[in-house]
Amino acid sequence: MPLIARASIDQVQAAADMVEIVGQYTELRKAGANYSGRCPFHEERTPSFSVNPAEKLYYCFGCGAGGNLFGFVQAKENLDFAGAVEYLADRYGIELEYEESSARGDAERHRRERLRALLEQATVYYERVLHDAGAAAPAREYLKQRGLGDDVCRQFRLGFSLAGWDKLREAARAKKFSDQDLLDAGLVVPGKSGRPYDRFRGRIMFPLADDRGRTLGFGARTMGDEKPKYLNSPETPLYHKSEAVFGLHAAKAAAGREDRVYVVEGYTDVLALVQAGVHNVVASMGTALTEQQLKRLARVTRNLYLCFDADAAGLGAMSRALTLGRKMGLSLHVVRVPDGLDPADYVLSGAGGEGFRALAADAQTLLQFHVRLALATHDLDKPDGRARAFAQLKGVLSEAATPIERDEELRHVADRLQLSAESVRYLLAGSGRSARAGDAAGEGRSQAPQGGGAAAAVGGAHELEVRFLAGCLAQPQKGRAVLAGVDESFFATAETRAALRVVKARLEREGAGNTLQTAAKAADDDDDGETLAEVVVRAGRERFTATVVDELFLRLQEAHVSRLIARLKVTAKTDESGKQGAELIRLQAVRRTVRGAIRTIPVDEEPDEG
Ligand SMILES: [Zn+2]
Repeated sequence: MPLIARASIDQVQAAADMVEIVGQYTELRKAGANYSGRCPFHEERTPSFSVNPAEKLYYCFGCGAGGNLFGFVQAKENLDFAGAVEYLADRYGIELEYEESSARGDAERHRRERLRALLEQATVYYERVLHDAGAAAPAREYLKQRGLGDDVCRQFRLGFSLAGWDKLREAARAKKFSDQDLLDAGLVVPGKSGRPYDRFRGRIMFPLADDRGRTLGFGARTMGDEKPKYLNSPETPLYHKSEAVFGLHAAKAAAGREDRVYVVEGYTDVLALVQAGVHNVVASMGTALTEQQLKRLARVTRNLYLCFDADAAGLGAMSRALTLGRKMGLSLHVVRVPDGLDPADYVLSGAGGEGFRALAADAQTLLQFHVRLALATHDLDKPDGRARAFAQLKGVLSEAATPIERDEELRHVADRLQLSAESVRYLLAGSGRSARAGDAAGEGRSQAPQGGGAAAAVGGAHELEVRFLAGCLAQPQKGRAVLAGVDESFFATAETRAALRVVKARLEREGAGNTLQTAAKAADDDDDGETLAEVVVRAGRERFTATVVDELFLRLQEAHVSRLIARLKVTAKTDESGKQGAELIRLQAVRRTVRGAIRTIPVDEEPDEG
């Protein structure tokens, strides 16, 4: 991949109007140094989303989405970093320069452009054949029989490949594409005689597009009994099977808006649903979802509704992907289509989009689904059947995403097995680490942040650290003074530590009279983007006085000392030298002093700004 030159990225960063870009998705109003509005990443009635126009950063206090200009475009337009830069360059009329102006980089880029042009030509050619050629009449009839209208077929640019051996090849060569181009694009197969022939013959063609709708390859389906039923493009410089998601380009706007995407198996399922008014639907190209596919989907929404033929075997085939999805923080649901129908048949049989949405409303979480599957596949009337069901459930329940979800399912299991919830809980007590980790996280969330517990510290620490840094930015003089006494050990996570580095660097530069440049600097550094944005937006949103910053500084120290104490309490037990015990006593004294200082802080009067 050619790299976009740093200077070009800076140029785009300087030219883009953050308020205008965000304004495409939500209405913004000026609020102090920021603009605020309803969040374009989650449904809400009252605005909790802020944009800092000068630094081109955004943050949502409702859902925690945040980042810089490029991150925003990446998220809303579902693009990678380079794609977002190109999108903005396009919009603001900036000619990009690329890093790799070496002969090799140029040749590579030229090659990809040529393949793209060829694939576009092929798409147009197949489309024309489908709609106009007499030989494609059976294909048109087939689509009509399947209930798919002309509009939706045109929207997805369906086509048809004629039955001959070199129809496409001839058409492409007439447009001055070479056999090598055709081979590289996966459109022909090398023949034994040395003369390549068309890969796709007599098939309905489904273009597989990237996030911008550009054809990368094809899926091709027979109408008869020929094998294989589906034939796809081979791996090419542009097309990678493991990344392909049919229909994502068309689905992403609706999927973002509804914050969910339906994943079906077949191309025609996608078309039938879109035709029925369900636009947030994609096809997975097989039941085993890959990590790359999940990542593409996760950029649009974290809520995946799987509409596979979800029997035990079907789910077994994707269990790895599902585990992966869970690790990525995706929320997975199973939509069960009745009577073994596929989604296309279901909506076309009269249920329509409304019927499908009703099914989706009854979707089970993956955990519910697994629990019911385990209960359904064992004979619960017999003791050994119950024992086997129980053994299986142990594993299933330990994978619950939250303790609440697990408890709900525990009650369901207790009901079915006629056990008290307590005895089920007791029997499941040893069921794996993740269940317990879930407990700890749950406690952390429900406890008040100012509680002294170690778990509470994690939840409250982030907010405290971010507010402290925001205060330092808002009160630069005070900020510089207190930051001189702070190092990274005061901060609980890598994100806030990264934000600390940026804030420190910025205040030093400002102190030296330089202008701000950090936003651009953070542009390609994804890790601290969100937290930094949160800090900057907070700095422009809350009223920070020097006294508030002092108080936050004290609270930061208290949290820091508390963490040290908690850690020491664990290790001091096995320490025989007694040194750690002494250190513990010293730290407890420090904490008392800090707490005393916090108590003596005067109640802050509202700053008078007229
Ligand atoms: Zn939000």
